[in-house]
Amino acid sequence: MNASDLPVAAEWYVATPLSPGLTLVTEPHVHPIFSANMYLIEGERRDLIIDSGMGVAPLRPFVDGLREDPTKPLTCLTTHTHVDHFGAVQEFDSRLVHEIEAEGMANPPAYSLDAGALPADLVAAFETAGYPPLWPLLIDALPHAGYDPESYDFKGATATGTLIEGDVIDLGGWQAEVLHLPGHCPGQIGLWQAETGLLFSADAIYDGPLLWQGAGYDVPAYAATLRRLRDLPASLVHGGHDPAFGRARMIGICDEYLDLWQAQGLI
Ligand SMILES: [Zn+2]
Repeated sequence: MNASDLPVAAEWYVATPLSPGLTLVTEPHVHPIFSANMYLIEGERRDLIIDSGMGVAPLRPFVDGLREDPTKPLTCLTTHTHVDHFGAVQEFDSRLVHEIEAEGMANPPAYSLDAGALPADLVAAFETAGYPPLWPLLIDALPHAGYDPESYDFKGATATGTLIEGDVIDLGGWQAEVLHLPGHCPGQIGLWQAETGLLFSADAIYDGPLLWQGAGYDVPAYAATLRRLRDLPASLVHGGHDPAFGRARMIGICDEYLDLWQAQGLI
């Protein structure tokens, strides 16, 4: 496909207020497989953006426009270093990631928006998982007139701090605990707020086909993560993709994959 055939998006990012101080940011013109959820959480002393999308268009100005006080310090927390979760990380001055993913965040591989450049086994895994077929490009619109998809340049950034299981993110008036949730990615993290039952689960669990086949995935580790999540008294789960869901659905998704892996003799 010729990029000049694509329409120009009116807005690249879309913001959806979820509750006071919590806003979902999405990239609807990115193919569903690579269109990740970002969450802006506004605290009393500091704001937090969980993940930074594909990096097709500048994210920081959009996020600052959403913030009640754009002069407040802002931290970007990268849940894991897959292409759809840290594309704009370099735009933020404060950058957190699990220590295992720090090298991947600093030195990402050369990514392309050309779907033809994806490894064949990855494309096959997407199809097996049940995702819609890929588009020729990973976007169906341009962020601005004259945008050249070949100019897509995935930068990455060094972490300004690293996280491990049990660390606490404190924004002032809002705290959450870091959960290490390996399986989808070795150093993937989620955030757990015990007093409200709120879970930011990244790609450990979301309400769509989970990915578990291919390089970097670890089914036994993933199973341990799902068993752990299954026991968590979460009331609302905000995943790395797809809409939020409650505890019953979380247990249903965990059981679906644990049963599948057991039936296949993988766990
Ligand atoms: Zn993802």
